[in-house]
Amino acid sequence: MRYYILFGPPGAGKGTQAKQIVEKYHYLHLSTGDLLRQEMAAGTELGKKAAELINRGDLVPDEVVEGMIRNKIASNRDVAGFLFDGFPRTIAQAEALDAMLTEFGGKVDAVLSLTLPDELVYERILHRAQIEGRKDDTDRSIIENRIATYHDKTEPLISYYKGHGNYREIQGNDTIENVFTALCGILDE
Ligand code: AMP
Repeated sequence: MRYYILFGPPGAGKGTQAKQIVEKYHYLHLSTGDLLRQEMAAGTELGKKAAELINRGDLVPDEVVEGMIRNKIASNRDVAGFLFDGFPRTIAQAEALDAMLTEFGGKVDAVLSLTLPDELVYERILHRAQIEGRKDDTDRSIIENRIATYHDKTEPLISYYKGHGNYREIQGNDTIENVFTALCGILDE
């Protein structure tokens, strides 16, 4: 079973690329952002607690997302692989994922990292706000907080995974087709 991480700042195109990857490779797409938004839409206790944090642009606690991911991996043992999107987002989550995958007899096969400069992150998020209507995409200070949170908590994962030798970088500032072709090149290795 393969385990891939789609990594990058908010707005880098992870969701768009994930859709195309799962269509071609039949991996299970696990987006913690999507899972949390489903909880919010269903009005669960977890969803209500998460909404407060998400709508400020803060991260939800590590244990919450780690629990969600663990449940999904445990209950989908017959898929070709997993594509994590928006997870892990902290070093603690990355360590928890490594421990989990060891338990399940696997490892992170590659980290597919989409790069994008901050100015373009901002532009892309505002553009997405018009299409998807996400509350955390519409407010300048929330977007700024998400970018700051990315630099502060998530970007350190780049060194973490570079140290593990499975980190691959792809320029996110390109057409959807070109980015997808580059990703497939790595997935087909
Ligand atoms: P995303 O759809 O990946 O942009 O995630 C939207 C929001 O959900 C983030 O800004 C966080 O508040 C929360 N979130 C998603 N994934 C995680 C994660 N792995 N750890 C903590 N919070 C997360």
